[in-house]
Amino acid sequence: MLSCKDVSRLLSLSMDQSLPLRKRVEIRLHIWFCKACPNIEKQLLFLRQAARKLDEEMLHSDRVELGAEARERIRKAVRQ
Ligand SMILES: [Zn+2]
Repeated sequence: MLSCKDVSRLLSLSMDQSLPLRKRVEIRLHIWFCKACPNIEKQLLFLRQAARKLDEEMLHSDRVELGAEARERIRKAVRQ
């Protein structure tokens, strides 16, 4: 059985890469029974969206010229 710590780690991992089906099922089951993890997932999804939006705004902005490296740094900061 996964611990809450495992689940939050796996959830944030799953934002960057797709996890094996078995792991995804384990996460789902845990979130189903856990009181805390649904909130963690919500927060991660929110941050994910915020990071994506920031990314798009930067891509479409001609005022801000940022290199890929700087953008990656900001994305990581937003994610934490
Ligand atoms: Zn949990």
